Amino acid sequence: MSEPLVVIGNGMAAARFVERLGCEALGRYAVMVVGAEPGLAYNRVLLSAVLAGEVAREEIELKPKGWWQRQGVTLVCGRRAVAIDRDARTVTLEGGIRVPYAKLVLATGSHPIRLPKAGMDLPGVVTFRDQADVSAMLEAASPASRAVVIGGGLLGIEAAYGLALAGTRVTLVHLMDRLMERQLDPEAAAMLKAALEARGITVLLEADTAAVEGDGCVEQLRLTDGRILPADIVVSAVGIRPNTDLARACGLAIGRGIIVDDQLTTSDPAIHALGECAEHRATCYGLVEPAYEQAGILARHLAGRPAAYPGTVLATNLKVSGVPVFSAGDFLGGPGTETIAWRDPGLGTYRRLVIRDDTLAGAVLFGETGDALWYLDMIRRGTRIDRMRDDLVFGRALAEAA
Ligand SMILES: Cc1cc2nc3c(=O)[nH]c(=O)nc-3n(C[C@H](O)[C@H](O)[C@H](O)COP(=O)(O)OP(=O)(O)OC[C@H]3O[C@@H](n4cnc5c(N)ncnc54)[C@H](O)[C@@H]3O)c2cc1C
Repeated sequence: MSEPLVVIGNGMAAARFVERLGCEALGRYAVMVVGAEPGLAYNRVLLSAVLAGEVAREEIELKPKGWWQRQGVTLVCGRRAVAIDRDARTVTLEGGIRVPYAKLVLATGSHPIRLPKAGMDLPGVVTFRDQADVSAMLEAASPASRAVVIGGGLLGIEAAYGLALAGTRVTLVHLMDRLMERQLDPEAAAMLKAALEARGITVLLEADTAAVEGDGCVEQLRLTDGRILPADIVVSAVGIRPNTDLARACGLAIGRGIIVDDQLTTSDPAIHALGECAEHRATCYGLVEPAYEQAGILARHLAGRPAAYPGTVLATNLKVSGVPVFSAGDFLGGPGTETIAWRDPGLGTYRRLVIRDDTLAGAVLFGETGDALWYLDMIRRGTRIDRMRDDLVFGRALAEAA
């Protein structure tokens, strides 16, 4: 008899996990996936492309309905799991239905943080996380409208770019002194700012939001220095927080996320967690690649085969802002590292490589990212670069020929 396995969350991590489980442990489990969002799992990363009008909504579904049926998965969409009873091994869904499990997988993702400032609950303030958010932004976007995006990280930049493409006058407000400070060094960040400005986006750095104001709906954003930014829509893109409420309420160990070991097992051996809701070796990842790696490891572990997740060296690709940008590893460097930088202001390209002990520790590429995966592979493998060091910054073709 198949053991009942329940997955809570129907996002990117869950879909990949079910796919991998189908390959690793076919027939061993009777799988049910419970998702709060109304439709099938979709590629959340491509929401930026939907906003930018580059991809249609229907095109971002990860798997068609028939695929889920063929996997033998019981899919429950548009219904939230509201409680876990670890003694009885049941999950309670909205409406009161109780579902038994032998194994439970939490794949609940994250939610966007709303700034704790006045007016953030006014109609017209949106976040950027799901299909409904994209609908709200597209409804508000027009050449006659003004948008303020709070947050100069990956999501804020992509929201600003998508809205600007629709003709909206966009101001991007960022608290720090450079954009994407967690992924870019100052020079690349300055180039990114210039590229966004060339697309008509006003970028305000070291700008702190005091409040969003309006009579019944958003009318303006006030900065702490007193400046007023008129707005028909405000997008809050200031970060995410793992969805841990269910896990916390049933007594699992929680840090920032749901704490898991190298087998993605929580403090309860019958319960696993993966994706953005999980915290592994004190890290909560906010990108999809670690979630996909974790999905493969957990499927293998649940198939009874040896598997351990060592963590992921992160890489960031900015996809839709029209400017290719890549960053990975220790891109800033510090004591014990050397930096090789190469720039071509005419072409608008820039590369910065950080070397430690004859290996590549980190990289930032701006304007041309064709060699990004080659550099990433070297960072992950710890490849010795001493023999190609002279040509490394010029990219794969030259360095390998040398
Ligand atoms: C606009 C945008 C652009 C992005 N771009 C990139 C990028 O370029 N590169 C990159 O690596 N990453 C990117 N990301 C991040 C990436 O999408 C996430 O890392 C990935 O989706 C995480 O997968 P997940 O399954 O952990 O979470 P999610 O995909 O968020 O899925 C979690 C699901 O669980 C559901 N859920 C939560 N609680 C419950 C409950 N109690 N009951 C039932 N269901 C529940 C949620 O509704 C959600 O559908 C982007 C994200 C956004 C929003």
